[in-house]
Amino acid sequence: MYKPTAVVTGGAGFLGSHLCDRLLAEGLRVICIDNFLTGNPNNISHLFGNDNFSFIKHDITNFIHVPGRVDYILHFASPASPIDYLKLPIQTLKVGSLGTHKVLGLAKEKKARILLASTSEVYGDPLIHPQTEDYWGNVNPIGPRGVYDEAKRFAEAMTMAYHRYHGVDTRIVRIFNTYGPRMRLDDGRALPSFVGQALRNEDITVFGDGSQTRSFCYVSDLIDGLYKLLMSNHTEPVNIGNPEEVTILQFAEEVVKLTGSQSKIIFTELPADDPKVRQPDITKAREILHWEPKVDRATGLEITVDYFKSLVI
Ligand code: NAD
Ligand code: UDP
Repeated sequence: MYKPTAVVTGGAGFLGSHLCDRLLAEGLRVICIDNFLTGNPNNISHLFGNDNFSFIKHDITNFIHVPGRVDYILHFASPASPIDYLKLPIQTLKVGSLGTHKVLGLAKEKKARILLASTSEVYGDPLIHPQTEDYWGNVNPIGPRGVYDEAKRFAEAMTMAYHRYHGVDTRIVRIFNTYGPRMRLDDGRALPSFVGQALRNEDITVFGDGSQTRSFCYVSDLIDGLYKLLMSNHTEPVNIGNPEEVTILQFAEEVVKLTGSQSKIIFTELPADDPKVRQPDITKAREILHWEPKVDRATGLEITVDYFKSLVI
């Protein structure tokens, strides 16, 4: 019997691999495409025996060939952590622009519904708080973060153009900081850095004075929101994230306490264009998708710290 088929670009990454798991659990066939630029085969190794799962190693900035019918495409390929995209500026711009163009071409050819993984970074260093979907953002196009922010803004524009001009069935999710198992300990984001430092009893490096805020969403909540958006009829961007906001200093203190670490917190230079605040307004997701996060930070952090312990020890 035919099973609906989903292509996941970036499927060997942190979020992509959780998405592959969820789509398979929903009874879909999944084709994962990844070039392991920032992803890891270990994230999908448990799926290799599954008849409904297949893997194509490919750089999606080049023409993408997928045989047979495709019903859904979830476009997640892109470096995502600040140190990754600062190290890989050209690849980041290429995957967001050329890669998104190829993926939209595939969606048009296959008459598939496509969901673009966009980001809260399209709001840049926001001048309104919390961020609603109708805010156009405050991005420095030539700053170091511009390679990621502008690639994603271009990807959104390209997605809307394919929707309006070619009638492609599109969805756009603006993902806010998400965490959980399968994050890389060395990806440089605050959460894995702090937990790694705490578990090794090293100094915890808070950038700036730590007064900047973020709002952290546990991965299972995010995946739930993504799936609901994919199955909805809503073609405008939707924020998915956890509105529970925390300063980075407060967050570092929580990690020290939870891990029972001897680490002390030190303050180092704040990177250029680091957003001062970030909190999703999720009114739209609540109303349209009947979605809201369920996992609080204490619970999510405990699961994630256990995962990182298995890597550090
Ligand atoms: P990740 O680095 O773990 O995953 C990205 C995957 O894309 C990797 O497996 C990588 O190898 C692959 N990839 C990169 N360039 C590619 C190319 N040219 N061809 C094929 N594969 C390629 O990052 P993640 O945290 O899982 O993020 C996934 C997506 O979600 C990204 O698009 C990111 O912008 C978006 N996002 C993530 C977050 C978050 O908090 N994790 C927040 C906002 C947006
Ligand atoms: N940060 C920090 N120490 C670190 C890594 C990050 O203080 O070792 C800060 C960073 O400057 C930012 C916040 O933590 O203000 C979240 O950073 P992250 O890299 O996780 O993601 P961002 O939300 O900036 O994309």
